[in-house]
Amino acid sequence: MGEAVTQSAPVLRALQVTKRFDGFVALDAVDFSLREGERVGLIGPNGSGKSTFVNSLTGVFPIDHGSVLFNGTDITRLTAWQRARLGLARSFQLPRPFKSQSVRQNIEIPLMFAVGQTNPDRIAAEAEAILLQVGLGAQSRASPKSLTQVELRKLELGRALAAKPRVLFADESMAGLSDTEVDEVLEVLMKLNAEGISIVLIEHIMRTVVRFSERIVVLVAGKKIADGDPREVMSHPEVERAYLGQ
Ligand code: ADP
Ligand code: MG
Repeated sequence: MGEAVTQSAPVLRALQVTKRFDGFVALDAVDFSLREGERVGLIGPNGSGKSTFVNSLTGVFPIDHGSVLFNGTDITRLTAWQRARLGLARSFQLPRPFKSQSVRQNIEIPLMFAVGQTNPDRIAAEAEAILLQVGLGAQSRASPKSLTQVELRKLELGRALAAKPRVLFADESMAGLSDTEVDEVLEVLMKLNAEGISIVLIEHIMRTVVRFSERIVVLVAGKKIADGDPREVMSHPEVERAYLGQ
C-alpha cells in the first residue's frame, strides 16, 4: 500500500526503529508517521512494545537501529531533554507529581524549564491557563495529595503541556478510570488537539480509542501489523487474533 496523500507534512516520523533489551527484540523495524494536528491511537497487547516505542521516540533510551525525524530533521541522537525542547512531550502511565508542592507549582516548575521564563507573575498566569485547559482551574492552590485519580491524570497532562509540545504521547492516561472519567480525560485531549497538538493515544479501551483516533496503529510483539482507518484496522484478522489471544 502506498502512503496516503495528506494535506499536512509529517511532524514526526520513525523509520525502521528497532530496540533490543539484551537479546530481546522489543521493537522490530517499526515505521511510523504522524501528521501535524493528527490523532492516532496506538494499540497492542501488553508487552507488545507500545511504551518502548514512546520511549524510543522521546529519547528515554537510544535505539539500536533506524531513525527518528521531527519536522524533517533527524533527532535520533538527541537527548530526551533536547527532544522535549523541540516539542515532544509525553504523560506517564503513573502520575508522579511533586507532592509537597501545590497543583499550580507542579505546572510552574516544568514551565520555567521549558520556556526559560523566570518572571513569577507570568509563570503563574501561564500555569493557571494550563490548569484551565486541563480542567483543574479550581484546584490550583490544592495539594496533589487531595486530588482524585482523574484529577491526577489531568495534572499529568498539564505537566506535559507545560513543555509547550507539538506532539503529545498519552501513555495509558486513562487506565483504571471509570467511564465518565475516561470521557473527561478524552475531552481534555480533544481540546488540546483542537489547539493544534498532534496526539498519540495509548489506551486499552477500544471504544475510547476508536472514538478518539483518526488512524490506528497496532503493535504485536514489537512489530507493526496494521496502520490505517480505525474501523478497517479493528476488523483486520490479525488484529482480531491478537486481541482474542489475550
Ligand atoms: P507495552 O507498553 O506495549 O505493554 P512495553 O513497551 O512496556 O510494552 O514492553 C515491551 C517489552 O519490552 C516487554 O517484554 C518488556 O518487558 C520489555 N521492556 C520494556 N522496557 C524494558 C527495559 N527498560 N528493560 C528491559 N526490558 C524492557
Ligand atoms: Mg505500556
